[in-house]
Amino acid sequence: MWFRQDLRLRDNPALSFASEQGTIVPLYIADSSCPQPFQLGAASKWWLHHSLQSLDQSLDNKLHCKSGDAQQVILDFVKTHSIQCVVWNRCYEPWQIKRDTQIKQALKEMGVTVKTFNGSLLWEPWEVLKKDQTPYKVFTPYYRNGCLRVQSPRMPSPEPQTLSIDYLQQEDMGVSSLNLLPSINWHTQIDKLWAPGESGASERLSQFLPNHIKQYKSARDIPSLLGTSGLSAHLHFGEISPNQVWFAVLHSVQGNTEQEGVDCYLSELGWREFSYYLLYHFPTLPDKNFSPKFEHFRWRNDPASLKNWQQGQTGIPIIDAGMRELWQTGTMHNRVRMLVGSFLVKNLLIEWQQGAAWFWDCLLDADLASNSASWQWVAGTGADAAPYFRIFNPVTQGQKFDSRGDYIRKYCPELNDLPDKYIHNPWDAPAEVLTSAKVRLGKDYPAPIVDLKLSRQRALDTFKEKEIPLQPIG
Ligand code: FAD
Repeated sequence: MWFRQDLRLRDNPALSFASEQGTIVPLYIADSSCPQPFQLGAASKWWLHHSLQSLDQSLDNKLHCKSGDAQQVILDFVKTHSIQCVVWNRCYEPWQIKRDTQIKQALKEMGVTVKTFNGSLLWEPWEVLKKDQTPYKVFTPYYRNGCLRVQSPRMPSPEPQTLSIDYLQQEDMGVSSLNLLPSINWHTQIDKLWAPGESGASERLSQFLPNHIKQYKSARDIPSLLGTSGLSAHLHFGEISPNQVWFAVLHSVQGNTEQEGVDCYLSELGWREFSYYLLYHFPTLPDKNFSPKFEHFRWRNDPASLKNWQQGQTGIPIIDAGMRELWQTGTMHNRVRMLVGSFLVKNLLIEWQQGAAWFWDCLLDADLASNSASWQWVAGTGADAAPYFRIFNPVTQGQKFDSRGDYIRKYCPELNDLPDKYIHNPWDAPAEVLTSAKVRLGKDYPAPIVDLKLSRQRALDTFKEKEIPLQPIG
């Protein structure tokens, strides 16, 4: 049983199948053949380390951890130990699909049976197509006319009743040998916030259900509230399946999808599906603009502003709060992700790939499908994207979703004493207000690195010049 992004025992179709066949050898491989841009970022590695430890414990410390070229490791393993059947749950990143196809072929040539399963999506990407058999490019028809009408998601299955494991000590290098933890200890705060692993995932879900789901629709947009489920990293590493979440949500409201919050929450799981769907059908999604109109767009090369953005030092409070939240907690509220993305791509005119790369390194839930699709959405370059003229105004967005500045004060404590009226735009505050709040712009807190109005106009002019269409494609 080759574990990959399915680090759990419950509702694990490949594991259930394997356990019914007989004795299993559970294996995890840190695959050195992973192409450089897709290698795990630092935050993901931290998560994976703990997630593997948790899985190892659930398997009575019998998980075999190895590193190396996955194909080589598997073929050697199979030969040395006369393994008859290899099973795994499918992954959907293009490089993984290519690798898995080759491994499957090589194993078949050796006379080894290979069985693969869907353990991480509600709907297989190839099952949902438009009438003309081409893929959807717009979310709502994909989800409402496609997914919801194709078939109901598979019901989750319980943990296998018996697991007979053959532990081959000489083949287990141990989780620590994978060197996933950083040498610099930047994760003390993150250690306290998150509990990677299958039980941590269940715990998160039960904190969210049944009560928070009811307020989800309104609370999900307020970054100072714990209004969302916090399941994204658990889902990414497969410590819980989307099926488990989907059915737990329905169960919590006795199947009443009319209930406020429920449809909204399920459709967010739908956005996750859509991201995987796009990645599957359009494998260049992580690096190429989905809309070819942007191919020759002249983005600005501005390393200094990029650094200000990364470090939460742009002088725009909600942007800085978001970027600092990311650094300190390994995550960022969804609404603020949209704001910092829009600020980078539109106000600074820096290409979205640079933002995506920073997220990839810092996010605990870094996910190639969701990250690429979401960045393209924010940039206006994607399928079903926000049109270019939607340039979020971080001040009015902040006033709307963080009206009392609680979120800003948490992550930008140097602005703590500013009155609510100026917490989103300290540059507008009269000198005496700044003095009494002990804020010297440019010293205690940066002056804005761009003028919001001018940079907005610059973006509109630049996009117009390139004749980017007003409506999203698809
Ligand atoms: P909830 O609101 O509780 O939602 C439940 C689940 O639905 C999430 O756990 C997630 O799996 C899924 N989901 C929710 N919103 C989205 C969305 N817009 N797109 C895809 N799936 C969604 N999500 C990632 O998992 N990994 C990423 O690398 C990632 N990068 C992003 C980059 C940008 C620029 C933006 C705007 C969004 C990104 N998202 C990403 C989507 C979203 O921000 C996170 O999934 C969400 O904030 C996770 O918090 P939660 O688990 O509390 O979500």
